[in-house]
Amino acid sequence: MTNKEFTYCPWCGVVLVEAELDGKVRKHCPKCDYINYRNPIPAAGAIIDNGQGILLVKRKYPPYIGDWCFPAGFMEYGESPQHCCIRELKEETGLDIKLKALFNVYAGHDDPRTRAVLILYLADADSFEPIPGDDALEAEYFQFDKIPSNIAFASHRQAIKEYLDYKQTGRLPKQNNG
Ligand SMILES: [Zn+2]
Repeated sequence: MTNKEFTYCPWCGVVLVEAELDGKVRKHCPKCDYINYRNPIPAAGAIIDNGQGILLVKRKYPPYIGDWCFPAGFMEYGESPQHCCIRELKEETGLDIKLKALFNVYAGHDDPRTRAVLILYLADADSFEPIPGDDALEAEYFQFDKIPSNIAFASHRQAIKEYLDYKQTGRLPKQNNG
């Protein structure tokens, strides 16, 4: 998973060439049918609120090691966003969760590995005792006025801001056609 582009056809090994396809310049294979569509990878995560604050995890691996973000991760092939979210929460925090509602969906442009789409749910946890696991160094609840300043990813920073607004107004984020 990377933002790097293929030079050779991943199917047959021939050097890819550029051509305009479907209104965009795309690399494609002159020998087989491969077209190098570059699509963002969906990720899913959850906002867990214990009434005092929100659950964040500290990143163990690049990018942004040591920064905090909502527990979330990339979808596996054949997985639904909902299942991905439940699996990632279990892996990163040890918590079993129940999804309540879709909170918002964000474009991710600042992950050096890939462009992403973050699907963020509101969820309840079976307990308020997270155990960091997998790619999380720590998993901790932060009071709403004590959220750390080093939050990884613009989409997660935006989501925190929108969640704090939601706490005050009870209204889910507006869609801005952006
Ligand atoms: Zn090919």
